[in-house]
Amino acid sequence: MKFGGTSVGDVERIRRVARIVAHERKPGRGLAVIVSAMAGETDRLVKLAREAGGDTHNRPGIAGKNFDDEYDVVVSTGEQVTTGLLSLALRQLGVPARSWQNWQIPIRSDASHSRARVDTIDSEKLGAAIDAGEVAVIPGFQAVTADDRITTLGRGGSDTSAVAVAAAIKAERCDIYTDVDGVYTTDPRITQRARRLEKIAYEEMLEMASLGAKVLLTRSVELAMAQRVPVRVLSSFVEPGDPNPGTIVCGEEEIVEKQVVSGVAYSRDEAKVSLLGVEDHPGVAADIFGRLADAEVNVDMIVQSQARHEGRQNMVFTCPDRDAPRAKQALEAAQKEIGYEDLQIHRDVAKVSVIGIGMRSQVGVAKTMFAALAGKGINIQAIATSEIKISVLIDAQYTELAVRALHTAYGLDAV
Ligand code: ADP
Ligand code: ASP
Ligand code: MG
Repeated sequence: MKFGGTSVGDVERIRRVARIVAHERKPGRGLAVIVSAMAGETDRLVKLAREAGGDTHNRPGIAGKNFDDEYDVVVSTGEQVTTGLLSLALRQLGVPARSWQNWQIPIRSDASHSRARVDTIDSEKLGAAIDAGEVAVIPGFQAVTADDRITTLGRGGSDTSAVAVAAAIKAERCDIYTDVDGVYTTDPRITQRARRLEKIAYEEMLEMASLGAKVLLTRSVELAMAQRVPVRVLSSFVEPGDPNPGTIVCGEEEIVEKQVVSGVAYSRDEAKVSLLGVEDHPGVAADIFGRLADAEVNVDMIVQSQARHEGRQNMVFTCPDRDAPRAKQALEAAQKEIGYEDLQIHRDVAKVSVIGIGMRSQVGVAKTMFAALAGKGINIQAIATSEIKISVLIDAQYTELAVRALHTAYGLDAV
């Protein structure tokens, strides 16, 4: 069981979480509970770390390389508090429980501080305690390196911790409790017409997450898919015993009716970079994108088109908004070598995507999308597709309008 920040936002909520956990305890069933920091706590800690050490990387949630190990020491503390509070609340209910800090298990990761990846989880001591009937309360978001230094897994990383622990202890399921009662056809904050999905395939959830639906972290879905951990997303704002079916994230073979489009996702965290009048010869693209890779710019959509001048082309691509300054710097520094006329950066763009495994065997899916957007007068600036998704780049001010129009166009609206 994993509980996110809002679900453990104050002591009253932590006591409710304790009641939910107590209710799930049954003879013959062991429980591990992964918790986030109380809502707002990690932000507060990030701010403190930045005040003390500066923010050399200028990336949200990521401190400068030389500082990252101590940044992790600071920001990981929020979760430790929650493990203690929940263990106390469980014991108050008469449920045997104890907190496990990561070094006590241990959960080991690589040494890429502030965005580490879990390597191994030693389930021996932990498993023995769970088998003996004690609820194990574990902080999400963190691990220790081979040298026993504390790491964090990147913002939102508790989802990943939960799936990793579930895989390590061979759990029957990983239940992610949050402030919505499941995965919806689109962010319920955007439209009241969004519907809870009963089931969603790993592949679809992976696309939804990486295209902006932050209900589950992309990395956690990757891990669940690779390790075949069944995941359920459900509400923590219920009393124990209330109906709470949630959404099951599972293999696509378990989904009988494959929807053409299961969901609509959006991301405003995008920037569009246009290199205009680039010399048109073999090797130019390799040169441009090689420089961007060196600058750690994560490129997403790419569009190449004929420029007005003979022998020149335009190269347009998108990247996360926070990468835009680095892209600008890398490209400006190499204007002569690359040979382009102009560089423009637009940060007021958004990516809207439709996702569905049924798309593989259906024609006309793209047409429906483009027609729906045209119907609202929304201009498409770039397009990217895969087997199970279509993404478009649009002016950010039309994000909500576009999401709602697509939600209706694909028949997803709740009746
Ligand atoms: P937690 O703190 O529990 O990890 P998050 O804030 O990370 O919770 O994720 C839950 C939020 O994800 C919801 O409040 C909702 O606004 C948002 N969200 C975005 N897209 C979706 C979606 N398709 N289905 C459900 N929730 C979504
Ligand atoms: N507390 C961490 C964060 O706010 C991790 C998490 O909640 O998943 O990013
Ligand atoms: Mg989350």
